[in-house]
Amino acid sequence: MKLGQLGEFGFIDRIARRVGAGSGVRLGIGDDCAATVVPPGELLLTTSDLLIEEVHFRRQWTGLRDLGRKSVAVNVSDIAAMGGTPRHLYLGLGIPRQTALEELDAFMDGLLVEAESYGVTLVGGDTCGSPGPLLISITVEGTIPETELVTRDGARPGDAIFVSGTLGDSALALRKLQTDEAPDPYLAQRHHAPRARTGLGRALARARAASAMIDVSDGLLADLGHVLKASGVGARLERETIPLSPPFRRELEKDGGLWDLALAGGEDYELLFTVPSGKQAVLDQVAEEVELPLTRLGSITSPDDGIVVKDRHGRDCRLPNAGFNHFRGTG
Ligand code: ADP
Ligand code: MG
Repeated sequence: MKLGQLGEFGFIDRIARRVGAGSGVRLGIGDDCAATVVPPGELLLTTSDLLIEEVHFRRQWTGLRDLGRKSVAVNVSDIAAMGGTPRHLYLGLGIPRQTALEELDAFMDGLLVEAESYGVTLVGGDTCGSPGPLLISITVEGTIPETELVTRDGARPGDAIFVSGTLGDSALALRKLQTDEAPDPYLAQRHHAPRARTGLGRALARARAASAMIDVSDGLLADLGHVLKASGVGARLERETIPLSPPFRRELEKDGGLWDLALAGGEDYELLFTVPSGKQAVLDQVAEEVELPLTRLGSITSPDDGIVVKDRHGRDCRLPNAGFNHFRGTG
C-alpha cells in the first residue's frame, strides 16, 4: 500500500496505536497539543534537527529502519551533552507520495525502538505529503535539575580534556560508502546506528565533574573549537592519545591520512568534556559507573594558543580557533 491510499489521518492513527503511555505525559498524540510534566526544580531542554533526503542521508546507503534510529539518537545526543534526561519526542514528516507503507513502518520501527531505549515517548508531530525529498524534523525535550546544567562555556585553563568511546569510525564508514566500498560492519553500525551517551552525560552532570561539555557531531576539532570559543580559552592535544577502534586502527596502518577523520570527521556522537583538576577523583568514580572508555586528550590553555595538536614526533601543529571544516592533518 502507498501512503496516499492510507491518508494523513490513517497514518497518524497507525502511529498513535503503537505508542505507549509515557511517564510525565498527560496528553500524547491526538489533541491539538501534547501536555507534559516538567519535574519540580528542573529546566526544560529542547533540541531540534532537520534531516533532508540527499542532503543529510541517502536511501541508497541508509535503510529506513536505521534512519529512524539515527534521527532519534542525534537529537537525544544533544540532551546528553547538557547532562539532561531525554523525555519527549515530536516528529515532523514530509513524505513523498509514492513512499510505500512498509518503508514508513520500517522508519517508525527504528524510531520507536530507539526512543524507547532512552525512555523517550513520541507525543506529537505533523505529517504532510512532500512533492520532493523525504523530510524528517525531530524535536526532543529533556529535563535537568537546574543546578546540574552543563554548558559549553565553563572550560578554564588547566582543565583536562576528555572524550568518550572512539573517534573517526562513522566518518571512515561514510568515506567507504562514498567510494563504493563496503565498510567493516562495526564501522557501518557506528555510522548508521550511533548511540547517544545519555548515561555518561547524566553521570557527569549529577557528579558535577564536567566544567563544559558538547557532543561530537561535527568532528573533534570543530566541536572542541565551539567549547573553546564559548569559554574563551585554548587547548593542547596529543594526537596519539585520540581513542581509535581496532577496525579504524587497522585502516590507519595502511593510510596515515586517516588521522584527518579522527580529528575532523563528524557524526561520532561521543561526549567531549573538560574536567577541573579538583574533580579528577569524582571523574574516576563516574568512569567506574559507566561502561565506556573515557580518554584524556590534553588540557585547556590560555586563549592565545588556539588549538595546538602535538603529533607522533612531538611536533606542534598550531590551528587558529576557526575554520576547522577544511582542516587537513599532517599524516
Ligand atoms: P492539527 O491540525 O491540530 O495540528 P494534526 O491533524 O496535524 O493536528 O495532528 C493530529 C494529532 O496527531 C496531533 O496530536 C499531532 O501532534 C499528531 N501527529 C501528527 N503527525 C504526527 C507524527 N508524524 N508523529 C506523531 N504525532 C503526529
Ligand atoms: Mg498539524
